[in-house]
Amino acid sequence: MTVREILKMGDPRLLRVAPPVPAADFGTPALDALVADLFDTMHAVNGAGLAAPQIGVDLQLVIFGSGAPNPRYPDAPVVPRTVLLNPVLTPIGDEEEEGWEGCLSVPGLRGVVPRFKRLRYQGVDPQGSPIDRTVEGFHARVVQHECDHLIGKLYPMRVRDFTRFGFTEVLFPGLDAAADDD
Ligand code: ZN
Repeated sequence: MTVREILKMGDPRLLRVAPPVPAADFGTPALDALVADLFDTMHAVNGAGLAAPQIGVDLQLVIFGSGAPNPRYPDAPVVPRTVLLNPVLTPIGDEEEEGWEGCLSVPGLRGVVPRFKRLRYQGVDPQGSPIDRTVEGFHARVVQHECDHLIGKLYPMRVRDFTRFGFTEVLFPGLDAAADDD
């Protein structure tokens, strides 16, 4: 088990556009070890998702979902535990939805971010098997947040209304400041 350091906003490595994971890496022990480190790191801070660039690995690889209800969205469908490589996101329609987001690379803060309500995402798992899902709501939000990390975007760059951006402890007294960030 290796809990890796999570890079914080301001680190230029979070601003890179990541290249795809080469097909030659699918199913290799090195890739399995990277995925294990991502999960160990995410679980250590009780996160909801994590992207490889957040631990300084410049590859198109994200993890998210727990298979359990999310306390921030108790009524939302459960997001399956997912390892997604080389994703392609296609919004379905142009309807947007606002929701609170936090990020492990922007600790202690939350903001309201507009995201596409519905989208299709395609990619592969660590074995190279295809993933192709059409999702909406919280699941769609998590995918958009994580995949933004692969193009050097952090959620504050998506905030439009900075009257709804601030410190978690002030906005949501009593909430664990780090829990459910991604
Ligand atoms: Zn994040």
